[in-house]
Parts: sequence; C-alpha cells; structure tokens
Amino acid sequence: MPYARKKMHSGDTHLRRRWRLRSRKRDLDLIDKDLQTGSDQLLNQDVDLEKPGFAQFYCIHCATYYINDRALQDHFRTKVHKRRLKALEVEPYTVEDSLRAAGQGSFVQPQKRKMETQPSKQEYAEGKRVKVDVVIEEEKPAKQNLSKAPKYDGKFKQLLDGLKAPAT
Ligand SMILES: [Zn+2]
Repeated sequence: MPYARKKMHSGDTHLRRRWRLRSRKRDLDLIDKDLQTGSDQLLNQDVDLEKPGFAQFYCIHCATYYINDRALQDHFRTKVHKRRLKALEVEPYTVEDSLRAAGQGSFVQPQKRKMETQPSKQEYAEGKRVKVDVVIEEEKPAKQNLSKAPKYDGKFKQLLDGLKAPAT
C-alpha cells in the first residue's frame, strides 16, 4: 500500500540545534559585567590566532568577534546589534531580586540604563570609553496619582470631630 502522505516533516532539528551547548552565547548579565568593568581589556585584546580577526574586532554587547573593522562597523548597524543594545538597557536580574521575589524585602523596579555602542578604535584612542549610565525615569502617571492621593487618616478624624461637635 502506498504511503498515505508525503514524508516531508523536517522534525525539530532546527529547534534542538539552537539549544546545543556549542551554540550557547554569553549571558546578558555577564555582558553587563563586561560593560561595567572589563570594557578596556576587551577592547584591547591580545592577538589570538584562534579567534576571528585575531581577536582584534570584538563587539562587547553581542560577545562576538569580527574579522575586520569593516565587518564590525557593519555589525553595529544591524538589527541584531540594535536589538541587543535594547535588551541590555534593563538592569540584569540578580540573586537579590530572586530573594525579594521569594518574600525577603519588597519589589524594586529594575533600573533602565542608557546603552551606547562601544567606541571604535579611533574613538577609543581619542579617549572615549564605555560607560553605563542609569537613566532616571520619571514616575509613571499612575504612580504619581497614587502618591498624590489625599491621605484619609487626618480627614477621617476631622470628619469624626465634625460629627461629634454638634451632638455635645
Ligand atoms: Zn553587537
């Protein structure tokens, strides 16, 4: 009997491939640490013949090596890089956050930072460095309304007094 349907199913190989250990990239919180402390060292790496471009053209934000400056500059203009900058804007999740979530302490809104692409070799020579500044966000309207809401403690007492006054 012929096959009832074509055997064209490709399976989940493409999904499994993505989770392979060898295709695992550096985690965002580690990259965040790189940006905070290790940027000077990562921008001026020693020549490593094993790495693409001898480890001279590295994007800290995406944790990838490029073969030459042209490729690196082209990468800075791509969607993957811009998406990564956006993802790095929010402060990484920490152990403290998880403890707060488990009931030790109260929730703290993760801070947003201003992310800029790392300086080029030339800009670096001119003294430009990677810096991660916290953006101070204005309170959200809903929160503002809450904080400005009248407190009822005092007024309630006044109200009570007002009610009592004519009776006595
Ligand atoms: Zn990048």
